[in-house]
Amino acid sequence: MIHKLNINNIERYDVVVCGGGMTGFAAAVTSARVGKKTLLIEKGTCLGGVGTAGGVNILLGGIKYGEEKYNFITGGLFKELYYNLRKTDDCVDIYKINRERSPHAWYPGLAESIIFDNEAMKDQLESIAVESGVKIKYMSYIFDVKTNENNIDYILITGKSGNTAVKADVFIDSTGDADIAKMSGCSYVLGRDEDNLMTPATLIMFLEDVDTEKVLEYIEKNKSPRFREKIKSLRQKGEWPFDFDIFISALINKEGYHMVNSIRQVGIDGTDTDSLTEGIIEGRKENKQLFNILKKYFPGYEKAKISSMTETIGIRETRRIIGEFVLTFSALMSGEEFDDIIALSSYCFDLPDPKRPSHQPLEGQKIKKRYTEIPYRCMLPDKIDNLLVAGRSISVEREVLGPIRVMGPCIGMGQAAGAAAAMAADKDSSVKDVDVLQLKEKLKSINCITDESQVCEVRNNI
Ligand SMILES: Cc1cc2nc3c(=O)[nH]c(=O)nc-3n(C[C@H](O)[C@H](O)[C@H](O)COP(=O)(O)OP(=O)(O)OC[C@H]3O[C@@H](n4cnc5c(N)ncnc54)[C@H](O)[C@@H]3O)c2cc1C
Repeated sequence: MIHKLNINNIERYDVVVCGGGMTGFAAAVTSARVGKKTLLIEKGTCLGGVGTAGGVNILLGGIKYGEEKYNFITGGLFKELYYNLRKTDDCVDIYKINRERSPHAWYPGLAESIIFDNEAMKDQLESIAVESGVKIKYMSYIFDVKTNENNIDYILITGKSGNTAVKADVFIDSTGDADIAKMSGCSYVLGRDEDNLMTPATLIMFLEDVDTEKVLEYIEKNKSPRFREKIKSLRQKGEWPFDFDIFISALINKEGYHMVNSIRQVGIDGTDTDSLTEGIIEGRKENKQLFNILKKYFPGYEKAKISSMTETIGIRETRRIIGEFVLTFSALMSGEEFDDIIALSSYCFDLPDPKRPSHQPLEGQKIKKRYTEIPYRCMLPDKIDNLLVAGRSISVEREVLGPIRVMGPCIGMGQAAGAAAAMAADKDSSVKDVDVLQLKEKLKSINCITDESQVCEVRNNI
């Protein structure tokens, strides 16, 4: 041992949620709303994780278009957020997005989304959490776990107040990286089996004063929503220095205000501090370089200004636990039946190749069923009885990450984890023994969607 730790405080809760992204927010609110003393721990200074701090202001996977209407695939808090934000005009009215000609998204599938104002979303998440009775602890880094046989006894967090041991009946790992599962000795994999490489990361940049109409005109005239031809010709002239071959920009909720989710940073390991730091430094540099190219060569961006770049880098993939059940690509393709489905996703197999950042290995593949169904068992790690894992690090084959990693299903999984944790805490039992039928009933009672029969229309008039 290099240095003996001082533990300044010990705190105790029924349910402790580790990581305050969309998944953790949903888990904590669901647990607190059924009366559990719930703590939500976050190393940053806002809720929403990649969705807010990371600038991904488009909730995907929770809405699907069909028969001239939009339907919620994720209910519960996802729905609540949409209607709340719509009332104050802080998200784009989904019925006003022109599917054929949409600057809000890059192709019609991406019009099935909630495009939101970042600050309003932070406010919504925080208000809902606080009003539900969640205790939030910001600027608190979880750095260790103490287990006792098959249970987590306490986790250790550090911050301004020193080190605190936090005890709970049940813990939820919503760090996105399965940090708690890893620290507890649960089985996991990192990235691709053959070389541990992960899909590229992106530091997002926001631009203002973009001439959106001009961008649309170019896209329509050239039938090129991702500017592939322009990039090809710039590369030939030696004016395009990047690995990626597509440009992605989406209009957010203010005229001329675009989110640029374009740079694709290969070789970043989101579980390594030095790699993350390098990613952030390089990400800012690449965005600046991209911005200069946009101004010079891309129609509509001539007068644009950089409004901001996110403080954190967006990581799409790190660890996945090997849990009670592994959801496979072949199960989705053959339409396997499960009786413990707790959330759905309407999103596609979007997971760019780790080395060729504009290549989608599974592009166009269609699953047998209409939606990707997520079984409860994917959230159960091995070895530990009082831990649930929710979000992109659940137990799935890497190929399945595309549909499950986006924010709709993350919110759905978060709610299921929060409800299951509360049930296990009530009975003082293992999360592995939660009665899934009862869990599904509970989720239904709070408007969550766990099967196709509950899919419901997005209201037009708010
Ligand atoms: C560039 C990019 C673009 C994307 N585009 C879209 C899109 O358009 N639409 C969409 O729906 N999805 C998109 N996604 C995916 C989606 O945004 C994320 O997968 C999803 O938001 C994950 O939510 P989460 O809460 O599970 O994880 P995160 O958002 O990663 O939240 C985890 C939280 O845990 C905290 N944390 C982690 N470790 C610790 C620790 N040890 N101690 C304390 N706190 C900790 C983090 O600070 C973070 O706030 C994109 C992802 C990226 C990276």
